Amino acid sequence: MEQYLSHRLQSLSESATLAMNQKTKDLQAQGLDIVNLTAGEPDFFTPDHIKTAAKEAVDKNYSFYTPVDGYMDLRKAIADKLKRENSLDYKPEQISVANGAKHSLANAIMSLVDEGDEAIIPAPYWVSYSELVKLAGGKSVIVKTGIDNGFKMTAGQLEKAITPKTKMLILCSPSNPTGSVYNREELKALADVIAKYDRIFVISDEIYEHISYVGKHESIAQFPNVKDKVVLINGVSKAFAMTGYRIGYLAAPLWITKACSKLQGQFTSNPSSIAQRAAIAALAQDNTPTKEMVVAFKRRRDLVMSWLKQMPGVRCNTPEGAFYVFPDISSFFGKSNGILTIKNDMDMCLYLLDKALVSGVPGDAFGEPTCIRLSYATSDANLEKAMRCMKEALVKLR
Ligand code: PMP
Ligand code: GLU
Repeated sequence: MEQYLSHRLQSLSESATLAMNQKTKDLQAQGLDIVNLTAGEPDFFTPDHIKTAAKEAVDKNYSFYTPVDGYMDLRKAIADKLKRENSLDYKPEQISVANGAKHSLANAIMSLVDEGDEAIIPAPYWVSYSELVKLAGGKSVIVKTGIDNGFKMTAGQLEKAITPKTKMLILCSPSNPTGSVYNREELKALADVIAKYDRIFVISDEIYEHISYVGKHESIAQFPNVKDKVVLINGVSKAFAMTGYRIGYLAAPLWITKACSKLQGQFTSNPSSIAQRAAIAALAQDNTPTKEMVVAFKRRRDLVMSWLKQMPGVRCNTPEGAFYVFPDISSFFGKSNGILTIKNDMDMCLYLLDKALVSGVPGDAFGEPTCIRLSYATSDANLEKAMRCMKEALVKLR
């Protein structure tokens, strides 16, 4: 009967990150002692003051529908955060809160992309961008960036990819999966290209803003020549270890925010009232718990990088943010342990799962099949074990 599914759904791929994470959890449930490096979420618990706010929200009967775009005091807290931390001026009316940054992205893409429109996406890119563009009837124009340029797209590459059908650029900094961070000059160069075209917008995914090892976060929305063309996406999942709460938001020109709101009003009404109250507590406080998490992530990045450097045949950029490494493992393609020959990134992930009990995500899902993605959002002990086993397994490939 599956042929009766809409064509829209038949052509949609499953989220590879979520699928690999679930598969790993299923194997763990069967008793296999796998170190799960697929997970794209902090391994920390939500800070106590945020949990308290959620519990209070239940007791204070925050149980009714909320405004579609979220409670006004949450939108004000977000506007304050954007001013305080990013020096960006947004009115609360320009902010719409959704069920996670993924949902904000979906709202923005659905609101802007028409049948046949093109979205420029630098690769490696996060798995959901191209699928959401497809769902909206658009076409992704993938621009390959290389490890030698820190996996960042240059202004020249952007200019070359623009056609009369280009509608948007989807940018992610700090990046999932590469950990690359665009600096101010690089963003300005991209903004100067975008500013030349009335019809081209930027979706700027800044969900890993706080998880950066290179200082102050830079947003492309800071440049006045593109500010009214940027849809800024952020949320509380990563910074405050609140992935399950499902709160994300966008800040955009009013007409885009209104369109996203119309869509959300038909799709989901509003994000969870309880989670919204918790998000206010997260945004109102200083970022001390976040800073503590970032110290741990940086230590783990260094730990993983020092192991990867000891693995002949593995090439990896040093991530400047987020909590992933994206090593190039293509030098192993065609090599074998005597039984199994590694032909591609998926074979490598299956080999590591089988022989090292380490699970990662094939790079193909991120538009770069020479690599695999490993998350280091897990304990130092888990990482030590995973890296030692990975090194031992790779040495056996000849
Ligand atoms: N963007 C990127 C780059 C991500 O890695 C994630 C994590 N899933 C999201 C957006 C969505 O985050 P959430 O929906 O949990 O807010
Ligand atoms: N951002 C995470 C990841 O990339 C969560 C999974 C998802 O939302 O797709 O693994």
